[in-house]
Amino acid sequence: MSKYQVNEKGYYGTFGGAYIPEMLYPNVEELKEQYLTIINEPKFKEEFNQLLKDYVGRPSPLYHAKRLSEKYGANIFLKREDLNHTGAHKINNTIGQILLAERLGKKRIIAETGAGQHGVATATVCALKGLECVVYMGAIDIERQAPNVARMKMMGATVVPATSGSKTLKDATNEALRDWINNPVDTHYIIGSVVGPHPYPDMVARFQSIISEETKKQLVGKIGKENPDYVLACVGGGSNAAGMFYHYLDEENVKLIAVEAAGHGVDSGESAATTILGKEGVLHGSRSILMQTEDGQVIEPYSISAGLDYPGIGPQHAWLFKSGRALYGNATDAEAMEAGLLLTKLEGIIPAIESAHALAYLEKMDLKNSDSVVVCLSGRGDKDLANYMTYFGF
Ligand SMILES: *Cc1c(COP(=O)(O)O)cnc(C)c1O
Repeated sequence: MSKYQVNEKGYYGTFGGAYIPEMLYPNVEELKEQYLTIINEPKFKEEFNQLLKDYVGRPSPLYHAKRLSEKYGANIFLKREDLNHTGAHKINNTIGQILLAERLGKKRIIAETGAGQHGVATATVCALKGLECVVYMGAIDIERQAPNVARMKMMGATVVPATSGSKTLKDATNEALRDWINNPVDTHYIIGSVVGPHPYPDMVARFQSIISEETKKQLVGKIGKENPDYVLACVGGGSNAAGMFYHYLDEENVKLIAVEAAGHGVDSGESAATTILGKEGVLHGSRSILMQTEDGQVIEPYSISAGLDYPGIGPQHAWLFKSGRALYGNATDAEAMEAGLLLTKLEGIIPAIESAHALAYLEKMDLKNSDSVVVCLSGRGDKDLANYMTYFGF
């Protein structure tokens, strides 16, 4: 067993665990007892792989970006999660969890969402399976993210506004947890990243591990070997990075780089660079690293990209950071926006602003001509067009 994977107690080194209110214990315990058995069943794997192929459109291509490679003087490959159905990697996880929920006999799915991307991915698989779907979303986010609210409603989901507190993501999370406590038997809670109590981080990482599984095979056809010199991915909670790193964790000669959002700069007070600004503590049911005040209150993060605007990182990332297995870098709003525009001009690919943070880190690397680099292009930029327009004045 890899020292970078979860142990039988639900920990990655000193991080992880299940710090939950007693009333949630039965729900989480049921998952913990069953998830490995279910997801390793041949029938489960068969249906998961079939849907990834025919519904999501996998395998996603590994694209050799020639002009970007010339610019940085290295061999750069993009893992094209942006080409997945619904435009990002999130669907890999929601497909896995809906199949699991079905096998657990659940009839009702709940989720929380910030900007709406995880809500849309969840509503999508509920439509696919004909399951009832309730998405909790901060009242302010509902106003700000009208197109995603419309998408969820079109797919038959009920979008419930969270009207307490700051009326944003953390309030929506509280509402979703309250719902789950009240409906432990018939409801599954789909978490969208490698966060939350054990077994969620491990379960989500396993569903996303298809990213590095495919990459290894695809690289053999391109460079004659499975391992590149560098693997890069952006980190909000860390699910695309966890999937991109998964099959490389024990290949110690592969350098893993996770890129956090620095917002207006790590010292600006408006940032989401958790490993620099954070301390160890408990967030959303697991022990990890999070941005917090002296007395442990969560500090509001900031990033131009909604998907990276999160005050923590998943427990596996905290461990990869602390053990030194992966390097945690960061990119500011401005660096990410420029990198997004650069990819668009050089390759004709408009990346999600989240993914553009990973691309921005290429500027900060000392690459050699012989280096091969894989960057996880976690999503497409269509959803970010208004942001690009405002920023560059198009
Ligand atoms: C949600 C999202 C992210 C951030 O989530 P992780 O769990 O950190 O991967 C990154 N990129 C895109 C395109 C997203 O939609």
